[in-house]
Amino acid sequence: MADAIDVVYSSLNHRFKGDLLRPGELGYEDARTVWNGLAVRTPGLIALCADVSDIINAVKVASQAGILTAIRCGGHSLAGFSTCDQGLVIDLSRMRQVIVDPEARRARIAGGCLLGTVDVATQRAGLVFPSSVVSHTGASGLILGGGTGWLTRRFGLSCDNVEGFTLVTADGSVVQSNSRENADLFWALRGGGGNFGVVTEFEVKLHPLTSVLLAEGLSSGADIRSLLQFWRDFMAEAPLDLKWNINLRLAAHASNVASDLRGRPVASNSLIWTGEPEAGRPYLQRVLSMCNPDTASSRVISYIDLQTMADSEFPHGRHYYTKSGYFKYLDDGSIDRMLEAIATPPSSGTQIELAYLGGAATQVAATETAFGDRSAPLIMNLLASWSDPGDDAENISWVRGLFDDLRPAMKPGVYINFMSGDEQDRVSEAYQQQWDRLVAVKSYYDPGNFFRLNQNVPPRKLP
Ligand SMILES: Cc1cc2nc3c(=O)[nH]c(=O)nc-3n(C[C@H](O)[C@H](O)[C@H](O)COP(=O)(O)OP(=O)(O)OC[C@H]3O[C@@H](n4cnc5c(N)ncnc54)[C@H](O)[C@@H]3O)c2cc1C
Repeated sequence: MADAIDVVYSSLNHRFKGDLLRPGELGYEDARTVWNGLAVRTPGLIALCADVSDIINAVKVASQAGILTAIRCGGHSLAGFSTCDQGLVIDLSRMRQVIVDPEARRARIAGGCLLGTVDVATQRAGLVFPSSVVSHTGASGLILGGGTGWLTRRFGLSCDNVEGFTLVTADGSVVQSNSRENADLFWALRGGGGNFGVVTEFEVKLHPLTSVLLAEGLSSGADIRSLLQFWRDFMAEAPLDLKWNINLRLAAHASNVASDLRGRPVASNSLIWTGEPEAGRPYLQRVLSMCNPDTASSRVISYIDLQTMADSEFPHGRHYYTKSGYFKYLDDGSIDRMLEAIATPPSSGTQIELAYLGGAATQVAATETAFGDRSAPLIMNLLASWSDPGDDAENISWVRGLFDDLRPAMKPGVYINFMSGDEQDRVSEAYQQQWDRLVAVKSYYDPGNFFRLNQNVPPRKLP
């Protein structure tokens, strides 16, 4: 591999417009760092691309040399797929242009954008692109895997709001994909992850929205169980304007948390209402009445504040491990097992994230995009977060043990963006009925599986 990477470097060096960084060189340490501290790798070469021609050259050279290659946008892959040992990283972080057309309510988003870049640009025109809940996440990885967030119930998944892709495929060709051109690829790119090429630009639909009504509150003790029971039944009939996320965790030892709650298991409720605030207040008040009164609040906040309010809860460099899946119905036994587990997590940063999807995301037909499963509205993410590498084994084992206990009550399937790096055996489970078509598209566009550092859909074996 060392020789091959030298060949790649020499071949790219004379024509590359961005920067090529090798171990030991100035800037390399920063450039090799990804969000998950559990994914520390030492790439042989990091190619910080300046433009599409850099990407084309890097893909051509690396694919001819047969070198292991990772593609990076925001570097937030929980699985650590945007880095590798010894191989090449094609890094798009210098390609963050967003061009908004306010009249048409459309935008063109470059392949290296963070969600925050997109939000700032679109909000200048009073518009939103539906994305996730943490602004330092990369747009490319998020959209290609599907993309769930605050606006999923109102406007659908992120990938449902893409009208066209431009990408560099494994042979270095630039390919356009939309409902008219390369329609199979267009289908596959909406949920199929990074399997098909390096996306250099997304053409997306935008929606008018500049603020939301937000309610937050903590429930504790026996109230958590009844709250979860209420949540699962109420959300099945709730209006599209309402999104209600619940995180089960230990309350922080922080001055803004009531002293009698600190360190105790709580359900942290965050709800937004995207319609007229007055119409949403009764719904939000109903939920806040189930929260500790000292912790309950509601206010209208700007969309940018909404999108950035969780940023500091998920800092770069901590160790994270996740396992995720869907419930069709959250039964009482699963609630009790979650409550038991969250009373004694191995790390105070660990949480069980529960989000209710449905709404506009389920109004898109199952076969219209490659996204795995739109039918089970309740998504659970067991997310362990800790800082001492000596605690890796204990935290990972806690997540695995809890997942194994909950799994019998869950619906088969998993959202690929919430998968860890040791779950390659669950990729076909993630796609279910989409699998054969995905394999066919992969086999056509990437027969040698050059793009394999992802939730991989292997191409058919060459004859
Ligand atoms: C703090 C945090 C919060 C999150 N919240 C949400 C959430 O609310 N909703 C949600 O749906 N997901 C969420 N996620 C998951 C997130 O969607 C995935 O981690 C996603 O892959 C991140 O994208 P990225 O570009 O930052 O990742 P990267 O690590 O850069 O890449 C992820 C994958 O995409 C591929 N890829 C990256 N760029 C390109 C490109 N231009 N072309 C082709 N392939 C590419 C990579 O090769 C890799 O396989 C969250 C993740 C984190 C860390």
